[in-house]
Formats: sequence, structure tokens, C-alpha cells
Amino acid sequence: MTDEARDLSTAQAADVLLPLALDGAYSYLVPEGARVQPGCYVQVPLGPQMRIGIVWGDPKPALECDKPERLREIAHIYDVQDAPPLPDLNRKFIDWVAAYTMSPPGQVMRMTLRVPAALEPPPVRYGYRASGFQPERLTPQRARVLEVAGEGPAWAGSDLASAAGVSSAVVKGLSEAGALEKIALPAHAPFAPPLPQAGPVTLSGDQEQAAKVLRRAVIARDFSVTLIDGVTGSGKTEVYFEAVAAAVSAGKQVLILLPEIALTGQFIARVEARFGAAPAGWHSGMKPKERERVWRGVAHGHAKIVVGARSALFLPWTNLGLIVVDEEHESAYKQEDGVRYHARDMAVVLAALGKFPLVLASATPSLESLVNVDRGRYELVCLPDRHGRAVLPKIDLVDMRETPAERGTWLSPPLVNAVAETLKSGDQAMLFLNRRGYAPLTLCRACGYRFECPNCQAWLVEHRFRRQLVCHHCGYTARIPNACPSCGTEDALVPCGPGVERVAEEALARFPDARIAILSSDMIYGSDSLRQVLAEIVAGKHNLIIGTQLVAKGHHFPQLTLAGVVDADIGLENGDPRAGERTWQLLAQVSGRAGRGEKPGRAIIQTHMPEHNLMQALVAGDRDGYLAHEKHMRERMDLPPYGRLTGLIISAASMGDAERFARELALRAPPAEGVRVLGPAPAPLAMVRGRHRVRFLVKSQRGVNIQAFLAAWLDGVKPKGSVRLAVDVDAYSFL
Ligand code: ADP
Ligand code: ZN
Repeated sequence: MTDEARDLSTAQAADVLLPLALDGAYSYLVPEGARVQPGCYVQVPLGPQMRIGIVWGDPKPALECDKPERLREIAHIYDVQDAPPLPDLNRKFIDWVAAYTMSPPGQVMRMTLRVPAALEPPPVRYGYRASGFQPERLTPQRARVLEVAGEGPAWAGSDLASAAGVSSAVVKGLSEAGALEKIALPAHAPFAPPLPQAGPVTLSGDQEQAAKVLRRAVIARDFSVTLIDGVTGSGKTEVYFEAVAAAVSAGKQVLILLPEIALTGQFIARVEARFGAAPAGWHSGMKPKERERVWRGVAHGHAKIVVGARSALFLPWTNLGLIVVDEEHESAYKQEDGVRYHARDMAVVLAALGKFPLVLASATPSLESLVNVDRGRYELVCLPDRHGRAVLPKIDLVDMRETPAERGTWLSPPLVNAVAETLKSGDQAMLFLNRRGYAPLTLCRACGYRFECPNCQAWLVEHRFRRQLVCHHCGYTARIPNACPSCGTEDALVPCGPGVERVAEEALARFPDARIAILSSDMIYGSDSLRQVLAEIVAGKHNLIIGTQLVAKGHHFPQLTLAGVVDADIGLENGDPRAGERTWQLLAQVSGRAGRGEKPGRAIIQTHMPEHNLMQALVAGDRDGYLAHEKHMRERMDLPPYGRLTGLIISAASMGDAERFARELALRAPPAEGVRVLGPAPAPLAMVRGRHRVRFLVKSQRGVNIQAFLAAWLDGVKPKGSVRLAVDVDAYSFL
């Protein structure tokens, strides 16, 4: 209610979307004499609080609202000079994603409204410069400050003080004495405009062909999707840089999406070298200041090239003209909590709504994208050869049943020999095992007791460097005890199986002179140290790299000539419909790290099932054969991308509550053509973080409006008490 009674007959009302999980936008009165436009940022009261929201449509007469006399008034309208209204396209996109993922629109919009500080006028900062005026009292400290302040542009006060090694009081004193003059500094470092031809390369014939297709797509200024399918090291990045150059020439903004982990300094530096200006970055590890700078830069259109993780889709773009999704097959593009969206798929939607081109790139494209090529929806360009003299690595299998590793070790004689030879010749070798920690399971030799997480249905993983047992699902940690907690026997606990740390331990014993780098997401504390280690590898500081899937991600290590896969069978038999495809991608990507420079590379893959069609296809380099088989199976079983899978995950404080709710839900499932509801069944991970979990899996044929089906099913369903219900449209995780 407004404070004074307002004449509602002339008042205007606006729908305001708040960044909360509400059903939709709420109506508010527009203050008298004020004007709002769609996309404006505003502050409105909600209960006793003030909230920032976005005007979600054209204002309308207040009398058209339900109960207009109860409308509250917009409290503050942000100046459109500081915060340009969120364009139509972005608002449409948010609504689209919300409808598709069955999320509240406000929850999706929250991804745009991440930096409230960026809506305010930019803070005015002052710097100091020596004025040339000599103060009466010139202490040595003061002299030092004046000497420093005489160099370069204006200094921020604190920077000047620390550069001169004095307290800020000295700077202040000099300013008051008139020896330093105050100068307004830009609030944020500006974005230098990228130059399309700052560091061009001469493309090979195939590359030029591919680049031509992409340039044409950019110039057409219409929606299109092009898949660059090129082996690792074939120059996919160079080729899509040509599309970026074309978009930049046309004055457009460009978004290059990368999986978070691939967002390295190496890639940023490469963009900078090619375009003569550092791109803006957008990822979860950014400091608030930089986040604000980039958000403003995007909203005002100054930031032209943004290299970002999936949430960059929700930046307040004003003039987006191209999106590139690199490593498009990566499952990391799927967000698995909150709004469960697939960034690659939503990028396609944004490009379609905005009528501009999209480029997908991968050495191991997803079946989803390849089938879209088959269907004629995506254009395909191929880069079959590595650039220059680099050739694809030769792949050999080691049958671990015939030539096993010695007891208690994990590297077979052929792999050990290959690593030794590689190191001897001065090259780099890599050992890959997709398992973090030291050992995946710890048990008591005396009584058979196994260490399990108290919150999750999962074994605790030993991390020897940290001297801890860790749950990989909830982060629970415990110290490794001396005695078995069950039978009390001392020194009877044994680790079972290898993790990456255990392989490193073996490597250290076998190759004591090797300079080992371990790359595992839990050993690298913060992305800066990851960047540093990657740079050190490129510089040749390490010659044996041991890692989890972190090492498979698009890195370019020119001196690496051997990739060894310690256990290729992990992940093949976990019941995930994409298990085969993912294993294929991972093994092909890991192998592809070898031989990217001058010397040819090779890959050695340890497996217990060398006869498996996937292993055979890898050795034969028969990707098409493998994928044809995989497509055939998926089509026969109505699995993605032919049919669709939607997950419904129910969790509760007790298994009884979860099951009861699931049974009630099962009874309400409406019959529908082309839809099969499987479950409820306990989830493979039946307990996570102390919550018990039950799943449904909804299989639907293409062409079924799954959102309409789910809406009909879930209409009026309200989980009570501790019960939660999550909908996962196009599920990628089945745990
Ligand atoms: P991909 O993205 O397919 O893995 P990149 O674009 O990273 O391949 O290329 C692999 C390496 O070859 C990089 O170091 C890249 O700079 C170099 N390269 C590729 N194409 C060219 C070219 N036409 N001229 C010069 N260097 C190239
Ligand atoms: Zn746990």
C-alpha cells in the first residue's frame, strides 16, 4: 500500500521480476511523474525488505491489475545511463530457459542480476600526481613519494604509499600541502577494442575452407549453427577466430564459451595475441571488482569479446552477434543444481532468438550435435588433419589380463617402458587416471570393515597428501585412524585400488629423476595455481604429468609425446546411457594430448577388455564405425538424441518420506502417448549429504511436449516438510 492515497485512475503499474523462485513477476505502481521502460532495473518492497528487480514488460494502467488498491510503489528506478535496460532478447531468453527447464523465471533471471553494484553510478576514484610544487618540509619519506609520483600516470593513494614504502598519512599530508594533485581516475580499467587482424595467421587449405563457411555465416546476420569437427590440434581455434574477427569487424559482441576448467591463462593469452587486446573473462573464480567491470563492459557494449563459462550466457548483452561453444561435447556445460540447463543447448536458443550464428567446436563432437548434422539442422565443417607436421598419435592397447602390473602396482611393463623411453629422449609423458585421491576404498584386513560416508551412500576416498578420508559427494572428511573403528585391530587398514595420487607414488618410485606434476582438481588450490602449473608444463619445467580428467581438456603441450591411460575401463559400466560416448571422448581427448608439436606422439591404453568395440575402434581410428554403432543402439532404445530423458529427483530427510511422496506422485502420472515413466526407484546414490533420494526417469519420444506433460503431472503437487522435488529436463546425470 502506498503512503498517501493515489489517484489510481491515472496511475501506471509495471510488472517487476525479482531474482527469487516466485511464480512470476509482481505488479508495482510506477511513482507519480516517473517513467519506466521494459528491462529497467528497479528497487521494490517485498514484505519488509527492499529487492532489486527488472521491469518485465510494458507499463499498463494500474486499474487493469488485480486489487489495484493494494499495489505497492516502486521505490527506486536505476538511471538508464548507469544501468541500460535489459534488452528484449535477454528477457525473452530468460523466459524461454525458465519454461524449458521448468524453473521459476526469477531464478533464471538471478543469473543476470549477479552484480548489483554494477547498477549504481560508477564510483569516482581519485589518483595523485606530483604537482611540481615543493612542500616546505621535505622529509626523506616525502621525497620518496614525490619521486614515485613523478612517474607514469596518476597513482591510487594506497598504491602510491606502498610503492614508496610509506604510510598513507604521508601521501595525505603531501596532498594537503599541495605537492600532490588529485586527478579523477576511470572507475574501471577500460576494455581495449579488439583488432580483427592484429595477429592473423595463414590458414591451410582445409582451414581456409572452414573459415570461409564461418565468415559467410557471420556476414549473413541470421541464425545458423556450424559444427567444426576437427581432430585435436587441427586448428579449430584458429578457424573460429576468423569468425570472431568477422563479427568484431561488424561491430558485434562475441561470446566464446569454454568449460570452466579450460578457461586458462593460456587461452586468454591466445585471444589477446590474435586480437591485440585482452578479452573479458567470466567465470566463478573472479573477484567482485573484476566481475563488476566485466558486467558493466558487457551492458554498455564496451566489452567486445568475452571468454566465459556457461553463466556468461546470462550477461546483459546489448549487441551479441556470435557465440562459439568450444569443446561442445563437454558434460561440464550441464548445470546440475538450481536451474538445470545445458549451456550448449541454451546457446543455440539464444542464437536462434537473436538471429545470429553459433559455432560449435570439438575433436569429439557429442552425438547430439552429430545427429543434428545428420538431420540437416547444423552445417558441418571438417578439419581431418593436424596442423603442420603434427600427426595423430598411434594408439596401442595393453591387455591387463596378459601383461598385468605387478601386485600392488598399476603400471604394466609396456607402459613403464614407454614412459622410461619418453623421459630418456627428453620429451614429456602423461599418465591419466580418472580418479582423484590415493585409493577409492579403504578396508580393514582383519574384519573387512569399509569406510563409508555417514552422509552419503559412498565409500570414503583416501587422500594421502592431505592425510584424510574424503567423501567425493559431500566433502565430509575424517582423519585416517591407526586402528580399525570396528574391530580395533591396529595397522590393519589397507587402501584398495588406485587413485591418481597412488599412481604418482608409483611413478615417483619408478622414475626417481622425473619432474612430476600432478593435476587433480582437489590438489590444485584455486584456479591461479592451476594456471601456473599449466604454464610450467608448457615451459617444460615438468616432464611427467599425472592427472585426472583435468589433463584431457584442450591443453596444448607441444613437447608431450606419450599419453598413458592407466585404466580405460572406468566409467564404461555405470549404467549411464552416454557411458560409451563419454569414455570414447575422454580416451580420444587424452590420446590427443600427445604429439601436438614437432614429434609424433603415441598413446598406450591399459584395459581389461581389449576386445570391446570401443577399444578396437580407438586403435583402428574408426570413429565413424564406433559412432554408427552407438547411434544405432540409442535409436533402437529411444535414448537421446532420438528420444529424451527427464529426471525427477525426490529427496527427503528420511527414506520413508521420500518413498511415500514418490508413490503418491507415481499415482498421479497422467497417461500420455509416447511417454514412459520409469520408477520410482532409489537413486544409485541413494543418500547424498544426509538426504535420501528417489528418482523417476521419464522417457519420451521426440515430438512429445515434455514440459506440457510434466506441468500436467506436477500441477498442484506441493512437496511438504523436508521433501524436495527437482526436475531435470534432458538429464545428463543419472546418479
Ligand atoms: P585445435 O583447436 O583444433 O586443438 P589449435 O587451433 O589449438 O587446434 O591449433 C593447434 C596448434 O597449431 C596451435 O598452436 C595453433 O596456433 C597452431 N596452428 C593451427 N593452425 C595454424 C596456422 N594456420 N598457422 C600457424 N599455426 C597454426
Ligand atoms: Zn558424503
